[in-house]
Amino acid sequence: MGNGVLTVSYIAAAILFILSLGGLSRQETARRGNFYGATGMALAVGATLLSGQVGNLGWLIPAILVGAVVGWMLAVRVEMTQMPELVAILHSFVGLAATLVGYASTLDAHTVFKGAELSVHRTEIFVGVFIGALTFTGSLVAFGKLRGSISGKPLALPGRHLLNLLVILISVYLGIGFVGAESTMAPLLPLLLMTGLALFIGFHLVMAIGGADMPVVVSMLNSYSGWAAAATGFMLSNDLLIVTGALVGSSGAILSYIMCRAMNRSFLSVILGGFGTGGTTSSAAEGPQGEVVAVSAEETAHLLADAQGVIIVPGYGMAVAQAQGAISEITRRLRAKGVTVRFAIHPVAGRLPGHMNVLLAEAKVPYDIVMEMDEINGDFPDTDVVLVVGANDIVNPSAQEDPGSPIAGMPVLEVWKAKTVVVFKRSMATGYSGVENPLFYKENARMLFGDAKKSVDSILAHLPS
Ligand code: NDP
Repeated sequence: MGNGVLTVSYIAAAILFILSLGGLSRQETARRGNFYGATGMALAVGATLLSGQVGNLGWLIPAILVGAVVGWMLAVRVEMTQMPELVAILHSFVGLAATLVGYASTLDAHTVFKGAELSVHRTEIFVGVFIGALTFTGSLVAFGKLRGSISGKPLALPGRHLLNLLVILISVYLGIGFVGAESTMAPLLPLLLMTGLALFIGFHLVMAIGGADMPVVVSMLNSYSGWAAAATGFMLSNDLLIVTGALVGSSGAILSYIMCRAMNRSFLSVILGGFGTGGTTSSAAEGPQGEVVAVSAEETAHLLADAQGVIIVPGYGMAVAQAQGAISEITRRLRAKGVTVRFAIHPVAGRLPGHMNVLLAEAKVPYDIVMEMDEINGDFPDTDVVLVVGANDIVNPSAQEDPGSPIAGMPVLEVWKAKTVVVFKRSMATGYSGVENPLFYKENARMLFGDAKKSVDSILAHLPS
């Protein structure tokens, strides 16, 4: 394949990646966005393999096939609730790949750079290996924390910020040694030392972050893995890798920013860690006071049958219970009776942005009744019944009412302003942030205890079809 055809293929792949990101930003076009992304990647890999610049196809093709089969098996098996874990482990592969490519580029005997070109090339390698190694261990720790195999509690070593700063300063010093080294083998020692430090800093940085911030960290590591890929693109002089890496890097950074804003956390405070220990304030320690009123599925069915306006707030528990299909059926029946039913989606409901939208789309809930928080938050006072299905933190009034709460200032869905709120959950346990929820004790709140899917099925049994 000539260079011209390769360039055209790369440009087409880059356009497909941009179209893919555009498509993925809206539920209606997400499927198409996915298709564009997969096609772009197939084109990019195919064109690279046929370009004649790649040797050892006998090794490469079996490796691609094994990777594709493992990836396929993982993707089919993974539960929606395990998606952040899968994303975290995949980022660790990108980090590892960038690190290994950096070593291969350093040891490559065919590299003929001299003078300033060599310095630039070595800087690219150094930066790529640093970000890659940091992403590798950081993602592994994030994976362990999300899975629960590593404690979600932040590991707050004394003087940890100073330690991080020291590691960065030593890395810069090693970088100067690496770039200025004379022979091919001489740069290896500073590179190895820096890799060790970067592996440590990735581990330490993410260990210091509490479980509640982990999805933001995964998105941040997504961004890092993009920049690591872009650095690899510079090392290999591969324009497509640079463009793709920059797209991933910037979209991950934007996503982290959106998540931080939805949780009212500053990006810097997430990176510096410490949040997520739970129950740190006096009010949280005392817990909300008052009586909790339980309600049965049958009573809830009556409430719904008498309502004119209903808002459903789905949360992580709906995903765990896989209640979206039954919820969709309730929606269909109520709408058929002339009840106005809408869904209120908090930007961080569930465990990853868009989590609820995906589940509702899968259950064929019409897009036009699925509202963003800002679109619907003002409508709760005029609503008869709100069903909070497995959501907790995103409907916690203490975010507005208790300035000492760890989630103070986080924008929340103001469900308590409706006439009646029915909360579906199994116990009085807290949500992801570990903060008690005074909503359950409000006069107009009713608790429907049990698995959300069973509760919704039971309501359906009492609703006229
Ligand atoms: P929460 O984690 O706050 O609450 C989920 C609730 O679901 C729990 O209280 C649990 O109560 C209940 N639940 C679990 N399983 C079931 C079941 N089978 N049936 C019924 N109820 C069940 O989830 P939210 O969606 O309200 O909030 C998301 C949280 O995740 C926020 O803290 C947010 O900041 C955080 N987060 C989300 C991100 C995102 O991108 N979406 C990113 C970063 C953080 P019980 O155990 O009693 O049943």
